[in-house]
Formats: sequence, structure tokens, C-alpha cells
Amino acid sequence: MTDPLTPVLTRNWRAERSWSLAAYEQAGGYRALRHALTAHPDQIIALVKDSGLRGRGGAGFPTGMKWSFIPQGPDGPGAKPKYLVVNADEGEPGTCKDIPTMMADPHSLIEGCIITCYAIRANFCAIYVRGEALHPIRRVRHAVEEAYAKGYLGKDILGSGFDLDIVVHAGAGAYICGEETALLDSLEGKRGQPRLKPPFPATSGLYASPTVVNNVETIASVPHIVAGGSEWFRSMGTEQSPGPKIYSISGHVERPGQYEAPLGITLRELLDMAGGMKDGIPLKFWTPGGSSTPLFTAEHLDVPLDFEGAAAAGSMLGTTAVQVFNETVSVPWAVMKWTEFYKHESCGKCTPCREGTYWLVQILERMVHGQGTEEDIDTMLDICDNILGRSFCALGDGATSPITSAIKYFRHEFLDLIAAQPAVARPEQLAELSGASA
Ligand code: SF4
Repeated sequence: MTDPLTPVLTRNWRAERSWSLAAYEQAGGYRALRHALTAHPDQIIALVKDSGLRGRGGAGFPTGMKWSFIPQGPDGPGAKPKYLVVNADEGEPGTCKDIPTMMADPHSLIEGCIITCYAIRANFCAIYVRGEALHPIRRVRHAVEEAYAKGYLGKDILGSGFDLDIVVHAGAGAYICGEETALLDSLEGKRGQPRLKPPFPATSGLYASPTVVNNVETIASVPHIVAGGSEWFRSMGTEQSPGPKIYSISGHVERPGQYEAPLGITLRELLDMAGGMKDGIPLKFWTPGGSSTPLFTAEHLDVPLDFEGAAAAGSMLGTTAVQVFNETVSVPWAVMKWTEFYKHESCGKCTPCREGTYWLVQILERMVHGQGTEEDIDTMLDICDNILGRSFCALGDGATSPITSAIKYFRHEFLDLIAAQPAVARPEQLAELSGASA
């Protein structure tokens, strides 16, 4: 049984030229692929189901189950092709786990893509990388070229009769394209906006064909499961959220960065790994999974950071983007900055999100600049209520999380901003005053 803190996903990251095919093979890379190609595709799907792997992009949907939704009938004439699309459009504020994976260990992603495509009977895979992430795009493209040259991609992979092509696609840098159906539209050359669901991508995804959309970390976990087995994978993490996870820790800690740990670790333990709070200044608030997950406070240091633990404590695991803020940070100011981001990234398709995020920014900016009223707090809650559950995709819901949770835990900070306003005389008072003195 593996020591829970022994790195799995990040174990190659420190090797010299870890991104190269030679270093990856030296560390045992592509052995899982050789093994997978000797099994029946259904056995691979069953293995991933048994492992309990859940999507690492935020939603936590069981991966093997998602694969099994792909129609598995014979690929006869008229049958639609199947596709794998890798969501590498990492854009949630604070999230930085997929880009380091693509930089340090791109072949783990490619090996995962090949095994996944073999399991779901897909012969084409697109890796959709955030457009601004130029270095990862180059690195993954280079790794794809290496894999073609070595016979891991292309026709008759390793003599198995299985064919696969991978294309690395650069997005144009839109947060909404991290939403799977907006990503598919963008990949088809259309404007990146979410599609109405159903139909779901499993039946009508890329070019209206059955498509699996998975996150980079999810796919990079697959070779480890094939190599180690489902029982080994389940020996890490919790019963309902098994396996290792990369937590990206940013903000006021001594050593920000990516920390791999089994799901279910707590912030208290993660802070120990990251050297504690920067300069010893106490913790004030933090996000467990990026800015679209409700805030936590110092009271939540011992919440297990798995899908169930975060939800039971009133937040979400999201992308495990742990943003840590100390006592020097104004909560309304931080919330204003996040809301400005969501307003900017709202795709504009639906009214509650498009208009709501605009008005939330107006109010927050007014409050932070000392011109808010107590009524503004209720107005913000009302706007959030009209966005949550009434928007077309998760961006709208996510935009409300920082605001409602901040008001829940730190209402006094909003009130303090109002109380600290200098008393400003109204124009008629000024006229009165000037008349009195004349
Ligand atoms: Fe676009 Fe926002 Fe509506 Fe999503 S919720 S479809 S981002 S306007």
C-alpha cells in the first residue's frame, strides 16, 4: 500500500527534462498503455469505474460512468465517430494544476488520452488549451510529435490495430470556454457559448457525435489506475472521493505552489506543507476550490477537502484552488475584484448573469469607494438570488458564491465600510449653510 503522501500525479515533475519522452519512459511511462491495449475496452471502462475516479475539473462526476454513456455499438457504416475532448482551458481564478501538469509531465496526459480513447473506441482526440498558455501549448504539441514518432500515436499503435490522432487546439482565452459545451462550440469554430442540455455531449458532443469531455488531471490519472489497479487507487483519499489530487495553493502562505495530497486532506495540513501563513499573519478567509466556491474562514481549517466534506461545510471542492488571505485583506475589496472578473467573462447569452454581474460590480465598487448604503447589501443578495439557479450555465451561479458567502461571514466588513463614510452634506444643506453664513 502506498504512503498517502507519496506523489503519484506529480512524481515525475522534478526529474531532469521531465517533459521529454525519454524521461517519461525511463520512469515507466507508456507501460500502462501497453498493458491497456491487451485488455478489452470494456475492461478499461470497468477498471476506471471501480477505481472511483471522479472528474477533477470541478464537478466531480464519476469518470468511468461518463465513459460508459458513450454508445458502444459496432462502428459499422453510418455509425457516428466517437471523440475525446480534453478540457485544458484552465481559467478559474487561483487554479493552477493543469498548466503545471502539461509543462512538467505532458506525456502522462497523452498516455491517458490514448488509453481513454481506446476504452471509448475513439480515433480522434482534441486537447483544448487556454489560448494565453503559450508555453504549455508548445510543450504538449512537442510531446504529441514525440509520441507519433515513437508509434504511440497514429495508425496501428504498438501493433494493436488501434488508430488515434491527437490535435492540440489553442483557444482564444475565454473563461466560458472552460464550460464543456461552450468549449465544444469553440472547437467547432463557433462563438464559445454554452449549449442547451440535453442533449449531453455523451450523445451529441463535438460535431453532434458522442463525445467524452474530461479535464487534464482526470485523464492524467488514468495511466496510474491502469498500472496500479483500482484497489490501489482507492487506498488513497476517502471512500466516495478516492485518489490523489493536486491542490494549488496561492496567496498569503510561505510557499505557494502545487501540492499533491489524497482527497480529504484539510487546509490545516496543507498549510503545514506550504510552510504556514506568510510572516505568521493569521488566516482570515480562503477559497477551497477557486473563487466560484463559497468562502471559508479560519473556522473551517479542519474541513476534509473532498467532494463531500467541502459540500457538507457549505462550499464546494471545485478545482481545489486554495486561495489563502490573511487579516490584512478587505473582504469587500476581494469580492469586488472577483466580481469584476465574472462580469468581464460573462458571455452575455442570458440576462440574469449578463445584467446581474454588471450591477453587482456597480454596487461593490460604490461600497468599496465609501459610497454604499446598508440597503446595498440587501440589493446585492437580491441580485444574487435572481442569478442563482436562473442562469444558463454555472458561471452565473459561481459569480454569486463569493458575494453571498462574504456577506454571511463578514457582513460587518460591509457595514464598517458604510459606517466609515465621511458625513457628506446634501446640496440643499450646503445651500442652507451658505445662506446662514451670508
Ligand atoms: Fe453566459 Fe453567464 Fe449565461 Fe453562462 S450564465 S450562458 S456565462 S451569460
